[in-house]
Amino acid sequence: MEICSKCSSPSFYTRRYSGEKFCEVHFKESVISKVSRTISKYGMLKYGERVGVAVSGGKDSLSLLLIMEKLCRKKGLELTALTVDEGIEGYRDEAISNATSITKKLGIRHVVVSYRELFGFTLDKALRQDDRDVSSCSFCGVMRRRAIDEAALRAGVNVVATAHNLDDFVQTFLMNLLHGDVERLGFMSPSYKDGAFPLRRIKPMMELYEEETALFAYLSGIPFQSVSCPYMHEGLRSEVRDFLNQLEAKHPGMKYVLFNSCMEVISHFNISKEKSKPCKFCGMPSSSGICGTCRMARLVRGGV
Ligand code: SF4
Ligand code: ZN
Repeated sequence: MEICSKCSSPSFYTRRYSGEKFCEVHFKESVISKVSRTISKYGMLKYGERVGVAVSGGKDSLSLLLIMEKLCRKKGLELTALTVDEGIEGYRDEAISNATSITKKLGIRHVVVSYRELFGFTLDKALRQDDRDVSSCSFCGVMRRRAIDEAALRAGVNVVATAHNLDDFVQTFLMNLLHGDVERLGFMSPSYKDGAFPLRRIKPMMELYEEETALFAYLSGIPFQSVSCPYMHEGLRSEVRDFLNQLEAKHPGMKYVLFNSCMEVISHFNISKEKSKPCKFCGMPSSSGICGTCRMARLVRGGV
């Protein structure tokens, strides 16, 4: 029987790239302390900041919420959960109700905004139109990013934590390269702020493997959603994910090495703040004078 590296209990999980073995208690502790170390290493949180966690209601974001609740309580930082209702019939309600019950249990303020209220349409309605030039997830991602910003501004938070894990991070890095979007690498900084815009975005779980966030969620009793989003369209991303998983299975630790290489490359990017100018419709930062959100929302509304 294998034994936990931290105590004499039987181990149930081996972190293959480091060789550490964990019992359930020490596995959860190691996840929380890893997130805490990531936050310190990249200076993600500062004294007195008001923190928002983007909570979709899925297992990753609810795990992040549990971890941030512990860490923020320790540091005396105010925490708010921010949720976006895209308007996806038969899918989003379950996630929002999971998020609501956990925020209630933890006594965390919960701000929910919807596409309908912010943009005048639901995702269901927008995707019924077929004149978009981007995939459903790309469209939804741009709108949701703005919706989270709006929720954060309403809640008065100044830093927003998202649940991207190490797998998401390296996949996005490679996807940006494969799409020729090299400029976008600059936006992947672990603690990103766009010029004078008052919000900073952080990724406290970026050094955690996806399998570890899923295991943490399972051990913490976080409900897993029974249905998937009907619009999920991952295309190239799922091929990149499979490729990375195959490499990791043959060479444990390879994703972690790749992550460190990505960080090294990103650290050499210096996105010029002058490049960002206010959108002429909403005033939010944009690269061309009209932000992606307004461009897409106007298409859905027929140029209104
Ligand atoms: Fe939006 Fe795609 Fe996520 Fe569905 S799977 S909620 S369309 S980003
Ligand atoms: Zn705009």
